[in-house]
Amino acid sequence: MEIKKASFHTSMKNASGYPNDGKPEIAFAGKSNVGKSSLINFLTNNGKLAYVSKQPGKTRLINYFLANDSFYLVDLPGYGFARVSKSERDSWAEMMECYFAAAEYLRALVILIDIRHKPTEDDLQMIEWAAHFGVPFMVAATKADKIAKSKRYHYAVRMAKHIEASLDMDLEFEIIPVSSTGRIGKEKVLGYIEKMIGL
Ligand code: GDP
Repeated sequence: MEIKKASFHTSMKNASGYPNDGKPEIAFAGKSNVGKSSLINFLTNNGKLAYVSKQPGKTRLINYFLANDSFYLVDLPGYGFARVSKSERDSWAEMMECYFAAAEYLRALVILIDIRHKPTEDDLQMIEWAAHFGVPFMVAATKADKIAKSKRYHYAVRMAKHIEASLDMDLEFEIIPVSSTGRIGKEKVLGYIEKMIGL
């Protein structure tokens, strides 16, 4: 699959803004700075798409991008900056739970984790929500250009082991090394999206 056309559709803060128009959606979640905007731009061949709504200090929203006129890529707010207060974290958690509860057409979640790093508590929380709400997920191991090609597989296996050891549940997921600057993993992630939206 290729994304030939992508544009900003809407932003929402809570379930009342949910588009609810029957188009399937794939959501993207990750720690701030993990490379989420860059990956969305890379997948859509649009250098600016996901940066548009990304300004520090602005209210964090859920952004919908319409792709190929037929499905949505959903950019969930980045999480886990050390300076984020407990009340901000609570409101993020509430927003995510509302989203999962409302997102009737959510087909899969792409969780982005830096290939070099251990999953954070927030990453694991996202995986728990996906499991709880019955949403399939994959891990995009970002910034894979930082690791020699011969070692990427090893890093991905190590990350899968971390996740499995940290969560006491049966999980089935793929880990795909990606890099927007190194142009790595695009076909695989788009293949996953195509499979999950089932269009
Ligand atoms: P977001 O906060 O998750 O949306 O992250 P951004 O996409 O804005 O990227 C955060 C920083 O990581 C920026 O400085 C990017 O240039 C850098 N970055 C993003 N993707 C990659 C990548 O694939 N490789 C490398 N080396 N850096 C990247």
